[in-house]
Amino acid sequence: MDVIKFWNTKTRGYEKFVPIKEGRVSMYSCGPTVYDFTHIGHMRRYIGDDVLKRTLGYFGYEVNHVMNITDVGHLSDDGDEGEDKMEKGALKYGKTVWEVAEFYTEYFEKTMKALDVLTPTHFIKATDHIDGMIAFVKHLEEKGFTYETPQAIYFDTTKFKEYGALSGQKIEDKKQAVREDVVVDKNKKHPADFVLWFKRVGRFAHHTMRWESKWGDGFPGWHIECSAMSMEYLGETIDIHTGGVDHIPVHHENEIAQSECATGHEFVHFWIHHNFLQVEGEKMSKSKGNYYTIDDIVEKGINPLALRFLFLQAHYRKAMNFTFESLKGAENAYDRLIDIFSNLKESEAKADFDYIGRFKRALGDDLDTPGVIALMWELLHDMRLDSEIKRATVLEFDKVLGLGLDKIEKDIAPKEVLDLLEKRQIARNSKNWQESDEIRHQIALLGWEVLDSKDDQKISRFRP
Ligand SMILES: [Zn+2]
Repeated sequence: MDVIKFWNTKTRGYEKFVPIKEGRVSMYSCGPTVYDFTHIGHMRRYIGDDVLKRTLGYFGYEVNHVMNITDVGHLSDDGDEGEDKMEKGALKYGKTVWEVAEFYTEYFEKTMKALDVLTPTHFIKATDHIDGMIAFVKHLEEKGFTYETPQAIYFDTTKFKEYGALSGQKIEDKKQAVREDVVVDKNKKHPADFVLWFKRVGRFAHHTMRWESKWGDGFPGWHIECSAMSMEYLGETIDIHTGGVDHIPVHHENEIAQSECATGHEFVHFWIHHNFLQVEGEKMSKSKGNYYTIDDIVEKGINPLALRFLFLQAHYRKAMNFTFESLKGAENAYDRLIDIFSNLKESEAKADFDYIGRFKRALGDDLDTPGVIALMWELLHDMRLDSEIKRATVLEFDKVLGLGLDKIEKDIAPKEVLDLLEKRQIARNSKNWQESDEIRHQIALLGWEVLDSKDDQKISRFRP
């Protein structure tokens, strides 16, 4: 098998990937907290995971990929002192927490689909796995790694010697966040200790999501779900765990601590982290108005896959600055790619051996997608190669890049698009323009564009 090297956050170095079980990979990705819209920062991260997964598949591994849906217990400060994100989201939109979770889970799925991100093998809700979490906490309690206060059950970080190893911070350096809205449990022993189970008391007395447990009714802390769900689906030690760099200092340290104390051995071999996305040089936030969703992209007439193309041009471990100018540039380049590709001759030709070798070496070099894209242009402009071979080779590249080239083969819309088109015709006949516009938008999310004439609608592939 060809060699893949990844940068492992844990060892702070490049390491050759060797799976625990030959030919198979167990991979866990911290998933979305479904209390608000998926934005372009999330999109970059999950496209990064998608490339990782597609690369492993391309190299012949069978990937078992688990992603959780956090629909309970994630507080706004990522620790134990903020507000509950779900309950806050529900209040804001006047819905129940369950409705909020469902709505934003669907929004996440719709976004991923528009970007051609493959669905995980198991895409699972935290609230469907509460029993497993309670059992996990009980087990930690029996082994003496927890303590109880009137408000919560905590994990005692001083009992885990390696605490802080992933982020390289010493446990003594962990200070309590000083913020006015922070609610501190005065019985918490150490600032780094974290909640495994919140009791439904004090500020959480009216918490709507609640489950019975031996510590009284309440709800799990955020961190425990990933350990419990990872172990349930993938076993006690897994090959790869992914997340954003922001997960390293708290969430992933906590996952390691509780997991390794529970089992007595290593939780994860490779920790892979995606870097931040800034927007116009600033941190994304709604108040700054630079928080963009897939609908914003489509409303500007941009094919979601042009956004994917833009993200692939930066290495996943580098911070990236998003601007609409750069997206325009990516859109032009994507358009050029589609044009060149559409003019390549179809045949039974095989991909070029030399280019495929270089393609694999770039991917095996910690997923060098900018390198792969440069290689793709080199290939397309290589005068020595026949058109047919170019086509076959670039289609191989696209198995990992996911730019939808295989769908360009025939300009025939999939059934899903044709069904929507029919629905839209009915809306148009009854002069329901709002619905007709909504359907046009849905079709755009699938990569197709509707052109209206007086009494007909025509469809063509969404071209930038
Ligand atoms: Zn997680």
